Amino acid sequence: MADSSVLMEGAVLYHDHREDANLGKLPGRVGWTDLGQFTNHGIFQPSVGTIQAVMIFVDFPNAPVSEAPKNYQHTRPYYEWLVPGGRQWFIDASFGRMDVHVTPINRWYRMSKVDDTYGFQRGISSDQHTNYIQEAVLLAAADVDYSKYDVVYIVPCKNASGITFSPTHIDGGRNKVAVNGRVVTHAVTFGQDMWRWGYKVMNHETLHICGLPDLYAFEEKGNPSNSHYFVGGWDVMGLISGHAPDPFAWHKWKLGWLDDDQVDVVTKPGAFIHHLSPIESSGGTKMVVIPLSETSAFVIESRRPLGNDNYATDSGVLVYHVDSSVRTGRGPLYVVHGNPELRDTYDPDDVNTACLGLNENKFATFDDPTSGVSVTVISQSEVEDVVLVKRSDQAVSL
Ligand SMILES: [Zn+2]
Repeated sequence: MADSSVLMEGAVLYHDHREDANLGKLPGRVGWTDLGQFTNHGIFQPSVGTIQAVMIFVDFPNAPVSEAPKNYQHTRPYYEWLVPGGRQWFIDASFGRMDVHVTPINRWYRMSKVDDTYGFQRGISSDQHTNYIQEAVLLAAADVDYSKYDVVYIVPCKNASGITFSPTHIDGGRNKVAVNGRVVTHAVTFGQDMWRWGYKVMNHETLHICGLPDLYAFEEKGNPSNSHYFVGGWDVMGLISGHAPDPFAWHKWKLGWLDDDQVDVVTKPGAFIHHLSPIESSGGTKMVVIPLSETSAFVIESRRPLGNDNYATDSGVLVYHVDSSVRTGRGPLYVVHGNPELRDTYDPDDVNTACLGLNENKFATFDDPTSGVSVTVISQSEVEDVVLVKRSDQAVSL
């Protein structure tokens, strides 16, 4: 952004502000999925380009596909449920930078054991999950050249009620799946929750394969007890069926879907104007990063009910805190509500209305005395939010 826009507040003139985007990149400290800018592609798949996936379908001695509901005895409805929607979602979220090409093997492979002996109903261990994938990929080995694929998707028939949920396998060196002399490093095993989540379960699980952590909480809190007090329905890595599943700008940057020149950074004391374009549309500045320590930052972005967020129930300026030293499911990212009284309620409904804005029912300013950071919405239009970011001299020095 050029230094062309200025704002008068009292006698003070504020200019647009530009610092090196590299100052906003936080180093990962977890060694697994985290919010660090650097993604280890020795472990995780690239998120720019086309992921080649093969989809294989399994049934069970106690749940043969011949006993599945009438319209679900073919592989086609399973593919149709997951793939076209999931694929388009990636294209939209990444501004065309990521695609998933899925090759279905259109037949059913009969697993050897009844479905509820594979461990899914008890949370499934890594060993059990590896065994399940190993058996399925061997069954399909005569029909699949695994050297052509980055990821294996395994889909159970609809009547296999013992395959309850949809975990991801990422080869971290301990549990190997091997077939035809080749290691299958990445797999998603879909479960019956796919019918509840819809195709976005494919997006969520595949983004783990690209290095993203879970943003929902592994520990329930609140009354009623829930897992969605960190980010509510913002971002598909939180609540998959949430109202605004498009990934946070922080995620899009890490995934390579945003360029460095779409990121503003504020490390110096002062007051600065930033023009934010909604993360759901392509082009423009997508976020302001305000580093707080070596691994943490406040991030500001703009949200609108567009694209993958078409059903968003809130819009405006969203402020959140990221920490690249925090593990998956422990709150590496949490949204900060515009209304200080609605922070720490553990209520996902509050998180879902967290945007700052100029409407009368909104707070226009986020103020954090601890860090010396404040954010004020100056103006809003359909295509832009303008914010004034202040960083005090007392702010944590880097
Ligand atoms: Zn997950």
